[in-house]
Order: sequence, then structure tokens, then C-alpha cells
Amino acid sequence: MKDKTQRTRCAVEVRGVVQGVGFRPFVYRLALEEGLAGQIGNDTDGVRIEIEGPEERLQSFLQRLRLEAPPLARIDSVAVRHLATTSDAAFRIVSSEVRGRVSTGIPADAATCPDCLRELLDPKDRRYRYPFLNCTNCGPRFTITRQIPYDRPQTSMAKFPMCPACQREYDDPLNRRFHAQPNACADCGPKVWLEDAEGATISADDAVAATIDRLLAGQIMAIKGIGGFHLSVDANNETAVMRLRERKHRYGKPLAVMVRDLEAARAVCALSAEEEALLTTPARPIVLARLRAASGLAENIAPGIPWLGLFLPYAPLQHLLFADQRVRALVMTSANLSEEPIAIDNQEARTRLGAIADAFLIHDREILQRCDDSVEAVVDGAPQLVRRARGFVPLGVPLPLDAPPLLAVGGHLKNVFALARGRFVYQSQHLGDLESLAGLEFFNESLDHFMRTFEIEPQTVVHDLHPGYLSTSWAKEWAGERGLELIAVQHHHAHIAGCMAEHGLVGPVIGLALDGTGYGTDGRIWGGEVLLSNLQSFERFAHLEYASMPGGEKAIREPWRMALGALQAAGFDPTSPETLSLVGATEQEGRVIARMIERGINAPLTSSLGRLFDAVAAVVLERRVVDYEAQSAIELEGIAVDETDDEPGYPMELLPGDWNRREPARLSAARLWRALIGDSRAGVSKSRIAARFHSGIAEGFVAAATLARCATGIARVVLSGGCMHNRRLARQLRAKLEADGFEVFQHRSVSPGDGGLSYGQIVVVAAKSRNRT
Ligand SMILES: [Zn+2]
Ligand SMILES: [Zn+2]
Repeated sequence: MKDKTQRTRCAVEVRGVVQGVGFRPFVYRLALEEGLAGQIGNDTDGVRIEIEGPEERLQSFLQRLRLEAPPLARIDSVAVRHLATTSDAAFRIVSSEVRGRVSTGIPADAATCPDCLRELLDPKDRRYRYPFLNCTNCGPRFTITRQIPYDRPQTSMAKFPMCPACQREYDDPLNRRFHAQPNACADCGPKVWLEDAEGATISADDAVAATIDRLLAGQIMAIKGIGGFHLSVDANNETAVMRLRERKHRYGKPLAVMVRDLEAARAVCALSAEEEALLTTPARPIVLARLRAASGLAENIAPGIPWLGLFLPYAPLQHLLFADQRVRALVMTSANLSEEPIAIDNQEARTRLGAIADAFLIHDREILQRCDDSVEAVVDGAPQLVRRARGFVPLGVPLPLDAPPLLAVGGHLKNVFALARGRFVYQSQHLGDLESLAGLEFFNESLDHFMRTFEIEPQTVVHDLHPGYLSTSWAKEWAGERGLELIAVQHHHAHIAGCMAEHGLVGPVIGLALDGTGYGTDGRIWGGEVLLSNLQSFERFAHLEYASMPGGEKAIREPWRMALGALQAAGFDPTSPETLSLVGATEQEGRVIARMIERGINAPLTSSLGRLFDAVAAVVLERRVVDYEAQSAIELEGIAVDETDDEPGYPMELLPGDWNRREPARLSAARLWRALIGDSRAGVSKSRIAARFHSGIAEGFVAAATLARCATGIARVVLSGGCMHNRRLARQLRAKLEADGFEVFQHRSVSPGDGGLSYGQIVVVAAKSRNRT
């Protein structure tokens, strides 16, 4: 029998998120507690530990290593190997080893931890009400880092030399602030102050208390946060919310609301256990949750929508705003004009926000990487990422196959790029629309930072098939200058492949890509697609019947146009008074649209489900113009929220193709439209019509999937595309597909919308290059 007290020595390599998260002091404490000798240091891909002592103690150490790891750590693997014993008597933390590539990059920003929050509110603590306290378990990371390695001199804390008290904590391996790079206190760290709209300092004994006074008086405050500035108003003050909307030129789009804690959150939203768990994760995302009727919030926070984007404070400064309980709920919206990048720099904020904000709560810790708030929702009982940003970036998303060094540039709107190497994809933060110069600069800045941080020099650049996307022309130019290989990936194939990879599927699968718009291989605009897909290629098995988009992009902003296009495809005459009255269009407008469709002038054909939602919403909700993309689809889902899922669907007709000749089947909405209009004329409620429409769409695509299974025997269905943000549709598709014996897969840690596109682009090209070698 092996002697449990025999002295042994092991090398332990830990991979995952183990740097900058307090892992080394944790291991140090563990070794002391177990009475073990050895050392720990950062390694290129994680940490390397050498540990020596009695076998029994070593086993206990290895067990506790996984069980008691610090909250922000994520252990992907632990490899143990035996070494010869030495005469080590103590355990040491050794400085970062530089072997080849430097290290694993930068952790994500994390919300104030419970220990720091207690200190913040404790009058006896030396950091009482200090708005920048943090420790190894919390605080800014990605947003304050200029370059690797993640060390204080490379962060915006470099200009704040630590006072002796802070330095002692930083140097003590048993302290919660050991090597906490942003460690600071009121004596040595950043400071906060108040400014008016002209940039003049407003003297105040307590800038936070003065900010609360102003918010309660209805003022618009620009508040500097972790990844950028927020514009804030009292969320209970209707007039203040309206003023903010007017000044920001943002009339319809919902505004996010921050409340003090979980208890306050429960008072404004009806929260499920999963939603409560999401609200309190260290990433502190905005969570889309069902608004209570008696929330007390201003009505125009989320007009026409029964959900609220709700989040909890994640920075000490935000906690202080709620600490004395004078403020109940604050609108906290990204400080930008429409889709421009969020403002981060003090001077930039003064220039860009001076006309919007009445005053600024500002500080001197520089934000080096712009990062919006992340958004998550519980879809079908599990979390789904809607917008990937603060708290998630720059953590890698696992890839089930090896990738060469790749850059994928994503889509056009809601852009996110991705870099890949080996088994990980590093997606950028949400960059917004590339259309403005500022948006494009943000893209370039962020790419530069990511390439340096992860030391990835792409060999191949992947872009969308759409020739008109700015990301496509950017990719062509960038790859051209560097002589790199360029590969285009079809939009919906990228969506499906991304979701497959999240679940480790290699295919073949039936992919339902239900989306806004994406360029198809036939040059038309796709978005209601049934694809037979594996990772590297796909075939189009079926699609939503084509309809004209009169006016092209204009039909997205003015859904009445899309409605006439869709009705015409369904066999209605777009010039007849009955049809025109459905969409609230004039005879003159009808004639113009009819001519566009007939001659195919500026009226591209689309099979997009998102556009069919727009068209139906235009008729049901009588909305001619939208303020933001997908507004009417979101409202249509919203009005159906209290209807049951059992509401029978409007019929869709599956027109068979000829699969032997690779001719796709088509899903026609002609009968659906007739039934819907019949209900409308019969006085059926809008909410019920919306519910029946959702059911009909789900049933139609289930029928198409069933036909695909008959033709191929494939019984796995993967759901992706922007329409999968629609919770009613996602839930019904899954339920109906499972009832028919399908196995169903949905996105979880990658967005189903265009924010997840670059991940899918990487997957497709990684799979293709594996086949080449
Ligand atoms: Zn902390
Ligand atoms: Zn200090």
C-alpha cells in the first residue's frame, strides 16, 4: 500500500481564467493551510504550480483547488505530473515567467463584490464611501487596460502611486488586495467631482449627494461609469425621462433602468429565479424582464413593451447613488447619440454630451476600452446573451475544433468582430453600427487592442457574403494591404454553424435561420431559411416565399411599405382601397409601390421572417414608421405576452420543391394573411391576433423541418438568427419541434442575432481549413 505520508512533488498546470482574478494568492493560502511547499507563477496560458509535501495533503490541495477557486476564476483544465522532490521548505509566489508568448491576456470587468460593498458602507472602514474601491474579486479590468501583461503600469491606474497602506495590502499574499491592480483609496486613488454643462467644476462637499439632489430635481446627469458614460434621470419622473428622450433624439427605444438591489428589482419586475440569478452575476448585465403594472416607473421608459431592461449597480459610485435610498430607480442609458459609440473620455464627453446633460458626475480614472452594458434574457428557461460587452469581454468562447489564426469581421449593424486561435474565439465588445466614422474608428481601435492582447496575427480574414456591407469592404482592403487570404461566409450559414459549435455539433443538422436580413447565394435577401447544414457547408432546403421590399432599406424604417410588398406576394392587389386601408396608405402611395414591385426597381426580393413580422405589425399595430430596427416585431411579441401558447396558428402553406434537383420548398404566407385579416375584421383582439400569428409561424417552420427530416432523416434542429430573440417564437418552436420528436438546440453564450455572426464565421472557416489539411 502506498504511504500517504510519503513526501511527493507535483507540477500542476491550470488553464482557464486564472490570471488577474486572485488565483495566485488563493493557491498561496491553500498551500499554507495544507502545510505544503513549492511555488506558483503565471504561465503563457494560465498558472503553473509546483507543490511538495505529504501525498495526503497534496490530494486535499488538488481537491480544494477546484472546489474553492475564487469567484471570478474559471478552471478549464488541471494537468498534474510528478516531479523529483527538492528541499523546498516554503511556498512562494514567483514573478511572471516569460516563455514565448507573454500571457493569457486580460480578465473581464467585475461588479463590486460583497466584501468591498460592506467596506464601502461601513463608517469605520478606511474606504468608507470611496467610489473606487475594489479587490482581487472585483473591479474594472478590461476597460482600464492599455496593453498586456495585465499589470498596474499598463493600466489607467499607472498615474496613481499607491499610498503605504494600499501598497502593504498589494504586497501581502494573504490580503484580499494582493496584486489587485486597480487597488486604491481616498488618499492615493482617483477622485470624483461635479461639473456643469460648460465643463466648469461645481463645488460640492459631496459630489454624489449633490448628484442625487439634481436627479431628484429632474435634471439629466452624465455619469462616468466603468465602460463609458451613462446618461441618467430619475426613472420615476415622467418629465425628466421625456426631456432625456428629446435631447438624445431617442423617442421609441426602451431605456435601461438601474435599481438599488434585488429587492428593489422585484418591486418593478416580476422575476423568475433564473432572471434573479442573471441580475446578480459578476458581469451584472442588463436583464430583460417582465415589467410590473404597478412598477411606479415613468410610462415612457419602454413605450409599448411589457419588458424592462433592468440592472443592478456594479460600480461603487453607482452603489453610492442608491445608498441613502432617496433615489428608487434611475434611467442609465449609454451616453451616445443613436448608434454612435459610447463616450468614454472626459473631454469627449463634455463635447458630445454638453447639449444633452445638465451636469456631469465625472472622475479621473481613465476608461481605456469603451464597453457598453451587456444584455441578457432568459429564453425558454435558460440565459441567452443578447449583447456581449462589459463583464464578458474579452473572455474567450470555446471552439470545438482547432482554428488557425483568423479574423472574422461580423456583419453590418450591431457589429462584433472575432479573433480565433486554437480552441478559443475572442469576440470584441458590441461595437454598434459601422456606418458612422466614429463607429469605424471604434472598430479599428478595438481590433488593434485585441490583436495586441491576444497576440494573434490573422492569416485569413473572414467576412459576410454581402458585397455592400462596410465590414466586407473593410476586410477586402485590410486583407489586401497585408496579402492575406479572404473568405466570404453566407450570413445564415454563419448563424447556424455558430449555434452548432456552441453545442459541439458537427452536423448534419436542420438549421432554422430566422432573421432580419442577410445576403443569399442567389443575390436575394434571405432570412426565413431552412438549411441542411454541417460546419463547412450548407444547402438551402426551404425558405419563406419571396416578397418585395419596396424602397429597399426604407421598407425597414417604414413597415407599411413592407406590408404592401408582403400583401402583394400573398396575392393582394397593392392598389386596391381594401389593401391600402390595411396599411394606412394613400392611393398615390399604393400606385408608386405597385410600380416599384412590378418593375423590380429598388424593390429587392426577400425571404426574411423579420420583414414578415414588420409587415404584420404594420397591419395589426397600424404603425407606419419605426424608430429603431425590429421595433414593431418586438411590440407584436409584446402585445401577445398574456395570451397562451395554445392559441391556434394561422395556416402557412408549404409548397414542395424538388429536392432531388435541389429546388427548395417554399413556405407561403398567403393563407396566413387571409386568416389574419379575417380575424381583424371580425374584431378579434390585437393580442390574440399577434398570438395566432406567432403560433402560425412556428407551425409553418415545424412543417418545413418535418419535410426536411422526411427527405434526409436528420432529426436535429438548430435555431438561430435575430428572430430567436423573440421569446414567444423560440419557446413555441422548441415545444412544437420536441413534440414532433426533434432534438432542438438554441444559442446560449453567443448571441443568435448579428452580434454572434463573427463567431459563426470563425466556425465555418475553421471547419473548412481542417478539411484542407
Ligand atoms: Zn471586492
Ligand atoms: Zn491608498
